Amino acid sequence: MAFDFHFPEGGLKAAMLASLLSVWVLVGLFYYLNRYTKRRYFTIWTAGWLFYALWLTLGLSQPESEVPSWGFMLQQWSMGLTAVFLLWGSLRFLGLRTRQTSLGLFMVFLLVWSYLSAFTSLPRWQIELPVFGMIGLAGLTTAWCFHQYGRRRQRMGAGLLACGFAFWGLFFIAAPFLQFSTRHPGTGFFVTAVLQLFIAVSMIILVLEEVRLSNQFAFEKLRDQKDIQKELETRIESTEERYRSLFDQASEAIVIAAVDDLKILELNQTAERLLGVSRADASRQSLPAYCRIHSPPSATPRNSAEWIDLICRQTQLDLVGKDGGKTPAEVDGAPMDFEGRPAFQFFFRELTERARLEQQLRQAEKLSALGQMISGVAHEINNPLAVIKGYIELILARHQLSGATRADLEKVARESQRAARLVRNFLSFAREQPGDRVRLDLNQLIRRILDLRRFDFMVGGVDLQLELDASLPEILADADQVQQVIVNVVNNALQAMAEQSNPKVLRIASEREGDLNRLRIEDNGPGIPGEVEARIFEPFFTTKEVGTGTGLGLSIAHSIMSDHQGRVFHERSALGGAGFVLEFPVCGCVPAPEPVPAPVPEPARAPEPEVKPARILVLDDEQAIAELLGEMLSILGHRPTLCFAPPEALELIHTNEFDLIISDFRMPVMNGEEFHHAVSERKPDLARRMIFLTGDVVHEKTRAFLEQDGRRHLSKPFQLTRIEAVVQEALSELPAVPSAG
Ligand code: ADP
Repeated sequence: MAFDFHFPEGGLKAAMLASLLSVWVLVGLFYYLNRYTKRRYFTIWTAGWLFYALWLTLGLSQPESEVPSWGFMLQQWSMGLTAVFLLWGSLRFLGLRTRQTSLGLFMVFLLVWSYLSAFTSLPRWQIELPVFGMIGLAGLTTAWCFHQYGRRRQRMGAGLLACGFAFWGLFFIAAPFLQFSTRHPGTGFFVTAVLQLFIAVSMIILVLEEVRLSNQFAFEKLRDQKDIQKELETRIESTEERYRSLFDQASEAIVIAAVDDLKILELNQTAERLLGVSRADASRQSLPAYCRIHSPPSATPRNSAEWIDLICRQTQLDLVGKDGGKTPAEVDGAPMDFEGRPAFQFFFRELTERARLEQQLRQAEKLSALGQMISGVAHEINNPLAVIKGYIELILARHQLSGATRADLEKVARESQRAARLVRNFLSFAREQPGDRVRLDLNQLIRRILDLRRFDFMVGGVDLQLELDASLPEILADADQVQQVIVNVVNNALQAMAEQSNPKVLRIASEREGDLNRLRIEDNGPGIPGEVEARIFEPFFTTKEVGTGTGLGLSIAHSIMSDHQGRVFHERSALGGAGFVLEFPVCGCVPAPEPVPAPVPEPARAPEPEVKPARILVLDDEQAIAELLGEMLSILGHRPTLCFAPPEALELIHTNEFDLIISDFRMPVMNGEEFHHAVSERKPDLARRMIFLTGDVVHEKTRAFLEQDGRRHLSKPFQLTRIEAVVQEALSELPAVPSAG
């Protein structure tokens, strides 16, 4: 059975209509794609399909006639334009540049050609062949474009489109030869309608594919965005956490206040501590309520901006806590944005710690200067004191005195002894004289001091309360120095209470706490005002009248306590007055020796008559000292030779025989060590029998020299008994003491 392509009469119009409808579907689709993709070639292709639709519409509207007409001409031209636009869009798609003027000229050429085809008697195939050829070529080119697109993007729709356009193009190329248009025009339109519908369906598939893929792409992008957002959120959280910990752990007090009303919005832990309020309590409170300006301006700030300016201009202000406690602080700040609100961030730097350190430094500097001064003065006093003390001893030992005179002289001796102790303490304060460290029972020492002062307490009406811890361990200390610390503090307490009418209470308590022995000396006097408290340990600081206070008592106490690796500090007393705490480290090394008896000036004794006189060379650049020593040695039955300068002494050694040498240590020209060296070179035996006089066991070097080989020394001011003992000891070491003749 042969396949009959022949269309029934009237079928032509139906086929054309079907073709036209399919073209409109294509126009709609290409328009949609144009809008969706915003690609220029879709616009051009849409225009091409519109001209194709026009061609079909014109074909539908005018009956086939052999008569030339404008309608036919327009039909031919629109067919040509369809081809041009399809081709143009394809070239555009392939990225090939097309010159618009050439296109315009080509369209004009098509118009002329359409006119000629309409108004000349050309055979129909000659008219149709170039037009259909052109449109076929355009279809094939478009097919090539979609083929490329499909390969590039892996789209099935594009592949189908390539097939559709290829068949459509081939059909138009073949159409004039097959002469469908004349013999079977309806079949031709039907085929084009089918091909156009195929193109439309392919286009729909492509569009759906594009939509699906773009949705997928958008979805992936959204997922990526979500991941990024999540990461950003985590980063924000950790930054926030870091900021919060920095904010809270800052040593500065940080307060954020709203710019418009200065209400506190946020504060860190240091600020909570200084202001004595929690974050919750502080919020909504006004910051100026917590600030005390040292020198308030004449006019109160009128608004928050003026407040901020005033606070930031302060070099120092007081932060006032809820309990009224003040903390001196430095301040600065910067504007900021707090949760979308203009705010100001204040930084308050606590000055207390810094001020304390500065004060300590100032005190250390002053103490060092004072130490040097005291050391110099003590040295100068030491020699005359030695002479006074020595001669009193000599008078007491040598002369027959009446009872009253002897008693008076003994008082002078006691006082000069006290002065000597003071000098020793001053030297100790100047860190030049290490005290004699012995095991010391603090309770015993306190009782002894109080025994001596009992009379004062009675007269002054002081109620003494003693709370001594019987199990207090011993300490390693210099008894004289510790006594001086206690006496200084007790004297201050007595002086502070002297004027008051109410009962005077002095409480002394001792206790052990761990490795410390703590002594608390309290009174119920007026106490120490805040502004004075910071300065009481400063040398020469006194609030007492001229002649009453020197301002040295507590600084000496401080220095002595530091020497003992302890400390002294002030604390308000529960009795209402001042309280001083002395802390001593407990000694736990050597067994306790017998308690040290209080140093009592010993009356000078006459020497034993059987002492063999020794020839002793006495060297001191201070004549009075040399003479005093000479006299003392004479009393002891020896034969002293005095000289006042080392070169002279070396001469004497060269020309005379001596049993021993007593030499000062601190001398001009040649010091004790150098003199000893010179003697060793000449008479080594004699050098071993040297006794050195020291004003103090001063410098490390001196001490090291004296400690070497157990060299003997006498400290100034010296006692007759001590001289006797040291001289005897030195002489007894000789195997055979040369006779004095
Ligand atoms: P001085 O007693 O010579 O003034 P200090 O160094 O011993 O020197 O004391 C310094 C200052 O400390 C005193 O001037 C006094 O203002 C104050 N002070 C010391 N102890 C007391 C106390 N118990 N009560 C009141 N004020 C005291």
